[in-house]
Amino acid sequence: MGEGSIKLKEFVIIGAGASGLGSAIVAARRGLKVTILEKSSKAGRKIFASGNGRCNIGNRFISTDRYHSSYPEFIEKAFKQYSPNDIWQFLQTLGIEIDEESEGRLYPMGRYAGSVVDMLLAECDRLKLEIIYNFEVSNIQKDKFFIITSLDNQKIYAKYLLVASGSMAAPSLGGSGNILDILKHLGHNIITPLPALVALNSYQKRWAKGAEGVKKEAFITLNIDGEDSLSKQGDILFTDYGLSGLAVLDISIEASIALNSGSYCQLNIDLMPEYSSSALSKLLLSRIDKDRNLPVKLWLSGVLHKKLIELVLAELSHLNIKSEANLNRKSIKSLVYAIKHISMPISNTRGFKYAEVSLGGVDCKEINPTTMESKKIKNLYFAGEIMDITGDRGGFNFYFAWLSGIISGNSVKGKNER
Ligand SMILES: Cc1cc2nc3c(=O)[nH]c(=O)nc-3n(C[C@H](O)[C@H](O)[C@H](O)COP(=O)(O)OP(=O)(O)OC[C@H]3O[C@@H](n4cnc5c(N)ncnc54)[C@H](O)[C@@H]3O)c2cc1C
Repeated sequence: MGEGSIKLKEFVIIGAGASGLGSAIVAARRGLKVTILEKSSKAGRKIFASGNGRCNIGNRFISTDRYHSSYPEFIEKAFKQYSPNDIWQFLQTLGIEIDEESEGRLYPMGRYAGSVVDMLLAECDRLKLEIIYNFEVSNIQKDKFFIITSLDNQKIYAKYLLVASGSMAAPSLGGSGNILDILKHLGHNIITPLPALVALNSYQKRWAKGAEGVKKEAFITLNIDGEDSLSKQGDILFTDYGLSGLAVLDISIEASIALNSGSYCQLNIDLMPEYSSSALSKLLLSRIDKDRNLPVKLWLSGVLHKKLIELVLAELSHLNIKSEANLNRKSIKSLVYAIKHISMPISNTRGFKYAEVSLGGVDCKEINPTTMESKKIKNLYFAGEIMDITGDRGGFNFYFAWLSGIISGNSVKGKNER
């Protein structure tokens, strides 16, 4: 077939998510003719759902140690290409003003994730960029050009190709792994994807079910094969399957890696981290009123959630504490220990269906960090979560999507290489 009779596009991007749209805008501003192929009928579905509908668009405290990859050298080099200010300025050129909340988390000023998608699409419109919806890429071949085939057998040819198709996380929002299989066939090494920023299942059902629905600030420590590995303080939520909540999501990256390697994982939970053991003992001792002699469950409900009391007291059933009159220094010491040392063994993560992001992806050893171009296949580029780079919770994943989108959009066709 001659070049004249085929649908030859200049720069094709697979995926209308954060990184694909970002790259498309940067490239189109440089004058490239851009076509985006998107499998669903809408762009930016994860952006829309992000940050509980508010879109935690970035973080002021960007540093490479907030990212996970099997090839950390790549992160060091890639993050030198643009500063966080360059990224915020790019968002401002779209009309998105940003505001800061606790821990440096950045949000669009209107606190509406939909507006981020609207602004990105408005710029795509202004630049007359082509977006083809309902085009699910099912194959990529490389000849003189890239030949991209859809599930329903349409073919598009491209001089330059960017894969920005995201990860396997959250399939209901477009998450999929089919492009990773295609890239493997094309010769790229794929680091095994694992669910991350995800709730954890526990087989300690007594606590999971007994405390179901209780949300509590706690200090949690991930213990791997008997060694404490990582601690976080923040909200945890007891659920019928195990544990969720922001502190649990934070710890899930390390837990997912350890579980995948067959390690034994346990979460140790301090339910009252705001009090040291001695301060809590002092508080509880000061509350004992033997004349009043309340049932101990009622006495403790001034301090702890009702469902947690049942479970804590069950741990101490051998002490037979029924009422305030039974309490003394020794039983208070045991009570404090029980409140501060809950153990929940972790059986696995809740999986990709419930994960916000994925670990693993295209091996970054095979990608040029200054351009995002494949080292194996000329004119093939990557951006976003398809790559083996995962950020912490708090806007770090969108930051990498914008960054890699901007680097690739500026590098395609050899321009602006640094
Ligand atoms: C519920 C939820 C909340 C989140 N909240 C935040 C947050 O507040 N802050 C933060 O930093 N991160 C957040 N994340 C993570 C963040 O959304 C992702 O890291 C980011 O969207 C990755 O961007 P991307 O462009 O790489 O991929 P995506 O945004 O996933 O875009 C990939 C696109 O490719 C399309 N696609 C996939 N396969 C094909 C195919 N075969 N053919 C054609 N198109 C295809 C998909 O439909 C999708 O539109 C959240 C994730 C989830 C699931």
